[in-house]
Amino acid sequence: MRISEPKILSALPELGIEHRAGSSLVDLTSLGIGGTTDLLLIRQHEHMPELVQLLKQEGIPHRFLGGGTNLLVKDGELPWVLLQLAQPVPDMRVEGNFAHVDAAADLGRMVTFCAKNDLGGMEGLIGVPGTVGGALRMNAGAYGTQIGSHVREVEVYRAAAGRTETLRGGEINFEYRHTSFAPGDIMLAVKLELPSKPYREILQGIRICNEKRRASQPLNQKSAGCIFKNPPGGSAGRMIDELGLKGHSVGDARVSDRHANFFVNTGHASFAEMYALVSDVRERVRRAYGAELEEEVIVWNA
Ligand SMILES: Cc1cc2nc3c(=O)[nH]c(=O)nc-3n(C[C@H](O)[C@H](O)[C@H](O)COP(=O)(O)OP(=O)(O)OC[C@H]3O[C@@H](n4cnc5c(N)ncnc54)[C@H](O)[C@@H]3O)c2cc1C
Repeated sequence: MRISEPKILSALPELGIEHRAGSSLVDLTSLGIGGTTDLLLIRQHEHMPELVQLLKQEGIPHRFLGGGTNLLVKDGELPWVLLQLAQPVPDMRVEGNFAHVDAAADLGRMVTFCAKNDLGGMEGLIGVPGTVGGALRMNAGAYGTQIGSHVREVEVYRAAAGRTETLRGGEINFEYRHTSFAPGDIMLAVKLELPSKPYREILQGIRICNEKRRASQPLNQKSAGCIFKNPPGGSAGRMIDELGLKGHSVGDARVSDRHANFFVNTGHASFAEMYALVSDVRERVRRAYGAELEEEVIVWNA
């Protein structure tokens, strides 16, 4: 979708918003798949309410992009514009056992920043790519850690109410790769409570998690991490592997040879190819195990 309304085009510079016309999701997602649309980069999140209001008044639908590491997006001209937080230097600060972090911050940088301040508990999240905002929306987790366990407050712009609110951790449900945020909520910043731990000890935990990841995941290939959630008590990767589907492909979309729940784009995979592979594998698992695999990757097919 292209923004051509003069009212919006003239307001964007005043709000400090950069307009990148015709941006490709091939470049904006870790899977390297998706069509084109206009991207609006928000330098100061204080301007979020005005921007969303303006888009609403002019009838322009929008979606929100974090780091693009958990997205599978359809091809062609997309029927919505993309918003992305892009503070040049996202705020990260520590006060006692609390860390205050902007949602635009890189998740890995946040983990190491906290570690350097002797705050641990998030070692498992090292190596999860993307932003703090994306991690909050997805309740990102690995190796027994999930970000939601540490959340004490989230500053969120609630599009439905048209205002920014601070939610307490207890008001938000953080489940396995699922949260109770409303679809129109945009996370702006978070306050985390973390246990004190010596830096050296945290570093050791980080090294162990990094090694595990390097040994089991196709980190040099284009992917969105795990495609499916694990079913209760089971492992999607193990089931796909047991069916001999590592290396199974549709065009340039392929089940990783290294980790059966990672689907990789080996060249120029289209949305149709990747989604056909997802559907095919899901069907084979259903037939063999009677289990209905649910996508962990967010699919933007409309
Ligand atoms: C190699 C690799 C390994 C991975 N390993 C893991 C892992 O171990 N554990 C795990 O949980 N995930 C993993 N992932 C998936 C992914 O990194 C996480 O889900 C990550 O938290 C997504 O963050 P993002 O900023 O990239 O979000 P995006 O992919 O940009 O967006 C994901 C969703 O969050 C929404 N969103 C993003 N930012 C905001 C915001 N500020 N406010 C509101 N909504 C927002 C988007 O609209 C979208 O619905 C992996 C991915 C890759 C490529």
